Amino acid sequence: MRTKENVITRREAIVTASAGVLAAAVPATAAASEEAPMTELKDRYEVIVVGGGPAGLSAALVLGRACRSVLLCDSGKGRNAPAEGVHGFLGQDGTPPSELRRVGREQLRPYDVTMHDGKVVDARKAEGGFDVVLEGGRTVSCRKLILATGVTDVLPESPGLRELWGKSVIHCPYCHGWEFRGRRWAFLVPADTVVETATLLSGWTTKLTLLTNGPSEVSAEHRAWLEGRAVEIVEGRIERLEGDGDELKAIHVEGGRRLDRDVLFVHGRLRQASDLAVRLGCSLVDTGPKAGVVKADPFGATEVEGLYVAGDASESGVPSVASAVAEGAVAAAFACRAIFTEDARRPPGGPVRRG
Ligand SMILES: Cc1cc2nc3c(=O)[nH]c(=O)nc-3n(C[C@H](O)[C@H](O)[C@H](O)COP(=O)(O)OP(=O)(O)OC[C@H]3O[C@@H](n4cnc5c(N)ncnc54)[C@H](O)[C@@H]3O)c2cc1C
Repeated sequence: MRTKENVITRREAIVTASAGVLAAAVPATAAASEEAPMTELKDRYEVIVVGGGPAGLSAALVLGRACRSVLLCDSGKGRNAPAEGVHGFLGQDGTPPSELRRVGREQLRPYDVTMHDGKVVDARKAEGGFDVVLEGGRTVSCRKLILATGVTDVLPESPGLRELWGKSVIHCPYCHGWEFRGRRWAFLVPADTVVETATLLSGWTTKLTLLTNGPSEVSAEHRAWLEGRAVEIVEGRIERLEGDGDELKAIHVEGGRRLDRDVLFVHGRLRQASDLAVRLGCSLVDTGPKAGVVKADPFGATEVEGLYVAGDASESGVPSVASAVAEGAVAAAFACRAIFTEDARRPPGGPVRRG
């Protein structure tokens, strides 16, 4: 039973567990800490979920409610951390990303879900499932493994751009477009997508400027299309972005040109935030708009038996919070289904291995 004296914070517990000493054995005061207490780690769980963003939290919730023992490991901030609010997610429009996570974690409390704030550094197939190695060297095992590790945006290198990322340098008009509707947008995208992008962004503004960031590779046909729709084309390398706090003020282009713009839309490349899926033997989609995501069926099952992937990391949906939540829930349900089926096939009276 946990008393005030033997409750320790998650962060303290990670350090302790990493050192091979279990948390509950160590009295510690969590005075003035806002962190929720965590329980000690077991050696085996039915399911381990790696990644505590919308996909991982959703998976853990469904698994917990399905009476499974779950370990949820998360190494930190998710992809939308720089954004002020999550938009376009029913019931939570404008909720800060960190608040959505806080509530998601809070709602896992009634269930057999252990939360571990730390990185998973390795995972491998093992007898009866997987061995998962936590930062610090502790190994825990599970029957099914769900990766909800997300992706990283590889941004253009222009000076000043990173500072405004997620605020007034954006990647998705559905996420941020309303706040900039009718204002002055610039966009920086691969040459073969300029018409598609201008068509998309025209839903939010008619004041569009295409930046080529160097010599233009836009075809004559596409250039004519853009010009016919009053989309300005500015050639030349971007020297820097000028901001004021979170606001973009101007884009400075070589040759001394200053463009006063309110928002810059960029098309960043996506990279897996973790190499665990590849290390476990999954392949990535290599071409097209989904290039870089882990191959999976619509239910999150990968090429590796017992391994599921959900959220932005996965091929199975689209990169958004709503989709990540749905994919996490679906992957969890299918992991449960596999567990239930395996257990039902065991001889009557035979041992059922739980957790
Ligand atoms: C700036 C920005 C704003 C956005 N705004 C919106 C919006 O308004 N609406 C919307 O629907 N979508 C928005 N998105 C997209 C949204 O962020 C993603 O679709 C969503 O976060 C995907 O959830 P996820 O759980 O798959 O991944 P993430 O939210 O990225 O979570 C993955 C988690 O896995 C953890 N992790 C990774 N590797 C490991 C490891 N080895 N061990 C342990 N943990 C690990 C990470 O620390 C992270 O916490 C935005 C994206 C960006 C970049």
